[in-house]
Amino acid sequence: MPTYEYQCTTCNYQFEEFQKITDKPLKKCPKCGNNLKRLISPGAGFIFKGTGFYITDYKRKNNSTDKENESKSNKQT
Ligand SMILES: [Zn+2]
Repeated sequence: MPTYEYQCTTCNYQFEEFQKITDKPLKKCPKCGNNLKRLISPGAGFIFKGTGFYITDYKRKNNSTDKENESKSNKQT
């Protein structure tokens, strides 16, 4: 199971979270509730390539497509 490293963009709080590859990434800082960014550290001892990376990439593409469609339809109306 991979370890994901997160950092808060507001208070810079850093922590690691064990998650399944299929779990959704965390978005809220547990300390201040603001936005998190997920760090990918090269020395973590596991590799992000392969199926896990593929699934993450696939999810992101789906999400961004949804958002693009929403914003486009909003602009048109
Ligand atoms: Zn924070």
